[in-house]
Amino acid sequence: MASLNPASLVTALLAIALVIGTDPAGVHSAGAQSPESANRKHSDPHDPFAQLDPWWPTPGATRIASGAPGPAYWQQRADYEIDITLDDDQQQLKGVVKIRYHNQSPHTLPYLWIQLDQNRFRQGSDALETVTAPSLSPKISFGAMKSILASRQFDGGYRITSVTDAAGESLPHTDIGTMMRIDLPTALAPGEKTDVAIDYSYNIVDAKVIRARGGKEFFEDDKNYIYEIAQWFPRVAAYTDFGAWQHKSFLGRGEFTLELGNYRVRITAPAEMVVASTGTLENPDEVLTERWKQRLTEAESAEKPVFIITPEEAETNESVRTQRTKTWEFDAKNVRDFAFAASRKFIWDALGVKVGSQTVMAMSYYPNEAEPLWSKYSTESIAHTLEVYGRYAFEYPYPVAISVNGPVYGMEYPMICFNGPRPEDDGTYSKETKYGLISVVIHEVGHNFFPMIVNSDERQWTWMDEGLNTFLQYLAEQEWEEDYPSRRGDPEKITGYMRGNNQRPIMTGSEEILQFGNNAYGKPATALNILRETILGRDSFDFAFREYSRRWKFKRPTPSDFFRTMEDASGVDLDWFWRGWFYSTDHVDIAIDGIQLYKIDAGDPDEKAERTRQERDRKEATVTEDRNQDLRRRIDWQPGLKDFYNSPQYDEFKVEEEDRKSFQKFLDGLSSEERAILRRTTNFYVVDFRNLGGLVMPILLRVHYADNTSEMMTFPAQIWRHNSKRVSKLIVTDKEIVRLELDPKRQTADVDEGNNHWPEKMVPSRFKLFKDEKKKNPMQKAAANGQDDTEQASPDKTTDQPTEPGPEQGK
Ligand SMILES: [Zn+2]
Repeated sequence: MASLNPASLVTALLAIALVIGTDPAGVHSAGAQSPESANRKHSDPHDPFAQLDPWWPTPGATRIASGAPGPAYWQQRADYEIDITLDDDQQQLKGVVKIRYHNQSPHTLPYLWIQLDQNRFRQGSDALETVTAPSLSPKISFGAMKSILASRQFDGGYRITSVTDAAGESLPHTDIGTMMRIDLPTALAPGEKTDVAIDYSYNIVDAKVIRARGGKEFFEDDKNYIYEIAQWFPRVAAYTDFGAWQHKSFLGRGEFTLELGNYRVRITAPAEMVVASTGTLENPDEVLTERWKQRLTEAESAEKPVFIITPEEAETNESVRTQRTKTWEFDAKNVRDFAFAASRKFIWDALGVKVGSQTVMAMSYYPNEAEPLWSKYSTESIAHTLEVYGRYAFEYPYPVAISVNGPVYGMEYPMICFNGPRPEDDGTYSKETKYGLISVVIHEVGHNFFPMIVNSDERQWTWMDEGLNTFLQYLAEQEWEEDYPSRRGDPEKITGYMRGNNQRPIMTGSEEILQFGNNAYGKPATALNILRETILGRDSFDFAFREYSRRWKFKRPTPSDFFRTMEDASGVDLDWFWRGWFYSTDHVDIAIDGIQLYKIDAGDPDEKAERTRQERDRKEATVTEDRNQDLRRRIDWQPGLKDFYNSPQYDEFKVEEEDRKSFQKFLDGLSSEERAILRRTTNFYVVDFRNLGGLVMPILLRVHYADNTSEMMTFPAQIWRHNSKRVSKLIVTDKEIVRLELDPKRQTADVDEGNNHWPEKMVPSRFKLFKDEKKKNPMQKAAANGQDDTEQASPDKTTDQPTEPGPEQGK
């Protein structure tokens, strides 16, 4: 905290003679390598440089010490065949899912665990029962109130009518909240597969009222729905080498982890509806018009998005009602999930994007209510994401990438995502809405890479998908336009959160995280940005990050696989960085604590005498000396008391010949090189730093000199390795230092810039003045009402109105 005034700069003289003849290196290393300090480094969990190996799983044949999958790596596989009917009258889904489960593990499995995510909406679910009381007083929005009431009435959850094996025999199954255990007649041995069929239905949640990751939205004017259908079929839970079955209850926040596999899905919907889905459409001749097919072909090689269904056609389609249905058939390979959307209201546009040797169709589906924003930005944002993420991770491997506008603000599934931002009714929109749309499309399409393909466990580690994805989202945003208003990624944007107390480490289970957005999105994205810009450098970071992405593409990484790979590929021990940023809630606050100037004292007795005399003469008289000036002293009226020491002959600084001889003898004993050192006029500045935040980081120091030049100095974080609270750094220069700045480019998320300057910098601020509003008392109001009714509308009267919006306005 302490910053010094230039006047307080301490000047000292370096007594260089003291170190001649000793071995400074020897003295130093003896201290640094003492057994205690070596021991402390490995046993003290508070040491910011202690290695993380004790906290990480022991490497083995499935996951090796470099952070890569090992020779015995395995993962399960689940293939799905689903026939589903969307009932628009009941807003219900009904169908059958057939799962072929391949046991590729070396373990025998007596039962399968199935995720029943819709049961989260069932009355009495853990998700509903663990919701804590909202803040009702002094006000609550109508939206929040509707949601509270609706979630207590909604008839949600799966209705499962049968669970059978390949032969149609019923299988015993047990409903445990959002999970179901299916007991197999014979345990599934390694290398075997088994078939399970589940007949089921459920009511689709109103995602405009109850917060959900998919659902329906009703449009009053034309009586149509947009359906965004997700977590819509019983899905096999993940079974892994590091955690066995992932059957943590679904409470709504911790997302999913699923097995990769192939899907064949037939969706039956009202004939007028357009279906957007994960996968490749297998029967375009049965469900698309000739015109749409022709436009799709045009879009493949177009420069700009092409309308497949125009806004006018979509508007016409809104009022069509037939009793006929159509079945859309989709095929998806090597995906971990499947989602779709359907509506009569969809405009559809598409653009072919070259990704390596294949053309990916970037496509958007949205109602006229989303125009003119969506046709301008959605599909272009998809194309941009594929291009940028492709460079930092790997080439997008799927045939389509889709963005749908509906009730969900932002949610991702393989090849398809749901994005909410829309303009106002009159077609205008705010800057926030515009960039909100571009950002959310980049983010949700980006999730194809993390965690749809780099298949981390979202229910456990939110940062592994949200943090990594938000980091790449930031890079993609900055490549969209100059000064793109990114919400997250810049170090200075995270300082407010880092300073606060209400936090848990990034390495916290998804459901237990506090301040979700800052913890799982903002902080890891910022940490990676700092790692890239300041710790490793762009080339080294990008190489390591790509290596991680490629190693774990279509596989299941854990946090230590990420940490280890980043170190393995960059060649830098980053345990201190993971420890500080991912395992602690410390923040960065490095302060300049002081600066001292030393100069060499050659030991010449004449020089010394002169210097001492000057120092004495420069000293200001004390107040007592001032007041005693005219004091009549005894020796003035008793001159006999004076002797040699009171006489002008006595010079207390007189140099003895003996001292000169001894100095000459010292000089004679020096080599010419040593004599030259002795004559140097170099400045030796010792700058003291304090680590107030706890998180160790490099010291980035800009030094300003009296000749108006400046210099940037970077001291790596390891400067704190012997003392993580205080360090001093020697700056040797012939110039005079006049000013120091810490982290002037705001690279480290230092939460307090006030202590980053020497001399201390005054931080200007402003305050406002206000006048108490005087309210009328009841007698004055009664008098006013009695006089004239028209006065109700007078400006004088309106000052009594509350200045804050009512609940309906504040929604
Ligand atoms: Zn996300």
